[in-house]
Amino acid sequence: MTTLDKLIAHFERFPGIGARQAKRFAFHLLRQDASHIAELSALIADLPAVMTECESCARYFARNGHGTLCTICAAANRDRSQLLVVEQDSDIQPVERSGYEGLYFVLGGTVPLLHQEEGRKVRGPRLKELVTSRLSEGLSEIILGFAVNPDGENTARYVETLLAPVLSGSSAKISHLGRGLSTGSELEYADPETIKSALKNRD
Ligand SMILES: [Zn+2]
Repeated sequence: MTTLDKLIAHFERFPGIGARQAKRFAFHLLRQDASHIAELSALIADLPAVMTECESCARYFARNGHGTLCTICAAANRDRSQLLVVEQDSDIQPVERSGYEGLYFVLGGTVPLLHQEEGRKVRGPRLKELVTSRLSEGLSEIILGFAVNPDGENTARYVETLLAPVLSGSSAKISHLGRGLSTGSELEYADPETIKSALKNRD
């Protein structure tokens, strides 16, 4: 395998990137000057050192010397009674723009209807642990913010089953944001007004 082939193979592993696009990326790089390529390589190489996963919500944030919590989880003015579970890091920014004031948890993927074993790849056990410890700190609602499609709905069922033993006997409940979004829509691409109304109409 040549260096170029290896690079193409790496790009093919990127989310949503097929063989053709992977090739286009690689050939695009070939046409760049050496300084651009050096800068890009350095940025990629620096990532593990400059970014870290929040100990609470599991999203990535830039290390800031202030410990293991991201700015949202560390903020004193967030509403700790609500926990919004999202699929990925990129779902958080649009929700923040909608004015949501609760906390988050990034599940790290979906549990596809036809590939239930994928459930092993998401942060289910960590979510269960977080909810268990937060119940004694006033957590009263877990809002599931997955896409309105079969995989999103299956992921919601997975989380409901996972949390059922933890929530039984507690007054905390699970609600769904997805049903307030239109069918097929994903948080990542939703506008703040749509998210605001989905939050208001959660069920
Ligand atoms: Zn956090």
